Amino acid sequence: MYAENKLKGIIMDTKYRILNSEGSITDFFLCPTGFLYNEFVTNFGCTVADEVFYSLYKKNRSSSIYRQIIPINILTDPSTKKYVFKLYDNRQIETVCIKRRTGTTVCLSTQSGCSVRCIFCESGKNGLHRNLSASEIIQQFLFVNENVNRIVFMGIGEPLNNYEEVLKAIHILRDRKGLDFPTDGITISTVGPLPALHRLKQESLKIQLTLSLHATDQVTRNELIPGMVNFSINETISEALSWQRKHNRKLTIAYLLLPGINDSERDSQRLVQWFGHKNVIINLMSYNGPKSLKLVTANNNQLHKFMEILKNGFVDAAIRKANGGKINAACGQLIAKEI
Ligand code: SF4
Repeated sequence: MYAENKLKGIIMDTKYRILNSEGSITDFFLCPTGFLYNEFVTNFGCTVADEVFYSLYKKNRSSSIYRQIIPINILTDPSTKKYVFKLYDNRQIETVCIKRRTGTTVCLSTQSGCSVRCIFCESGKNGLHRNLSASEIIQQFLFVNENVNRIVFMGIGEPLNNYEEVLKAIHILRDRKGLDFPTDGITISTVGPLPALHRLKQESLKIQLTLSLHATDQVTRNELIPGMVNFSINETISEALSWQRKHNRKLTIAYLLLPGINDSERDSQRLVQWFGHKNVIINLMSYNGPKSLKLVTANNNQLHKFMEILKNGFVDAAIRKANGGKINAACGQLIAKEI
């Protein structure tokens, strides 16, 4: 067993060097936060893998030794912290940590920008710049370094549009030799690109799934979520319900209630038809973005009225309060930009 103080990590651009206690040196490229333990063993052997993983995940998770994303600002309000990071290519991403009575949730970004361009969301305003690597996703989690019991892929970006790296990040998070995070504490929140949603269903992963629906007809959904125009709303719902049946887990539907747009009696009827008597919960949210001519923030009465109609139709429903609005950390407020 090598003593901790014999481990030295030296950053040389993207090249890392381990000087182990036997005095030998191992060089490796890319940040170890992008590797599973077994991959690391294959490339560098057990000794180096054990030392690096101990240093990275057990000793001091927020250590800067292997960090490639640079924290440039931290904003706080009583229940929420927002971390702003600079990436190697001078892009900015944001990560949010929310404290609730039930525990602490961290909301991770998966892309720099977003091609989906939902009209209620700041993250997609300038389109997609690039996908984040699994390593950049994991480093957000490590830097937050709180006692987190829930991880949600709900920050900047559409996680299923960066399928490979997000799935890799999930495997790294749950790696027994690393962070050993419980799989069922991880949620993917998606607008539901069909091929990727279908692929996710085939994975043997006991994660949670949230489908951001926000509309009950194709025309309204196309308007609110322009990046999903090629995917039928009916097929998207059917695929999400099929995931629910296959994995026997509760499906969450996120529904941003927008008065005059998606809160009609017809909307509630359709939701009841699709989700009544099913293992589904609809989370109703209100708009947090900048004042606009088109989008109105639903008030408590409107939210409660809509929720009651759903409940009367045997749909499990709840109102989700936005956290972090004052520090622009609520859903739809995260910004991806060039610095
Ligand atoms: S809500 Fe999600 S999918 Fe839509 S633009 Fe924002 S980050 Fe992209």
